[in-house]
Amino acid sequence: MRTLLVAGNWKMNGSLALVEAFRQTFAAVALPARVEVALMVPFPYLNAAADAFRDTPLMVGAQTLSDRTGGAFTGEVSGGMLADVGARLVLVGHSERRSLFGEDDAAVLARVKAALAHDLTPVLCLGETLEQREAGRTEAVVLGQLAAVCDALDPDERSRLVLAYEPVWAIGTGRTASPEQAQSVHAAIRACLAEYSPTLAEGMQVLYGGSMKAANAGELLAQPDIDGGLVGGASLQVDDFLAICQSA
Ligand code: PGA
Repeated sequence: MRTLLVAGNWKMNGSLALVEAFRQTFAAVALPARVEVALMVPFPYLNAAADAFRDTPLMVGAQTLSDRTGGAFTGEVSGGMLADVGARLVLVGHSERRSLFGEDDAAVLARVKAALAHDLTPVLCLGETLEQREAGRTEAVVLGQLAAVCDALDPDERSRLVLAYEPVWAIGTGRTASPEQAQSVHAAIRACLAEYSPTLAEGMQVLYGGSMKAANAGELLAQPDIDGGLVGGASLQVDDFLAICQSA
């Protein structure tokens, strides 16, 4: 039985005050036994969040990383630095990174490798645009993004990934994929993983993301191939995020 992971993605939002609000709430709650929780915070809050969440179930993650290990790359942040300040996970290939910051499959792969090199769990994001869905290309796009990374990793590296299926048309739009739409893509992802190895497919956490909120999380998380959520907007209110974690 896979554990569920509910990960908040603050994007370019949040504050030290919000870190403290999460600390207070999560220090005092009991979560369902099969639920793990993480918060992907902006770089400046990583250190404070890692300290603050020490006595809570919250793990801390980052939202991106450089593909370089260090040196003269002004403004970049390496996987080693993330690990140094207590991050355990990092998003890679989020659709906003792909579309707004030009990260193609090769750039995504390089960042996955950089994360693995520092024992960070890469949360690899996959998803189709509305245009691609309407053209009937959803599985081709999503499985293509998956293969671009998995083909280049060895079996041990593949087993250390977490995946997040995030249809681009559902991100920040209030338009969630139906449980059936999401489950069907998640099942296709798992079938693709089984071609690498049945054990890989069985163990991989595949999260759903895209306008997940307390009102729809329960039925999404009840799908057999949905192993958690990647939550943007609803992770900015501690009560909303907690309700999602508790609905699993
Ligand atoms: P959303 O964002 O929950 O606001 O749709 C999800 C994400 O981008 O990870």
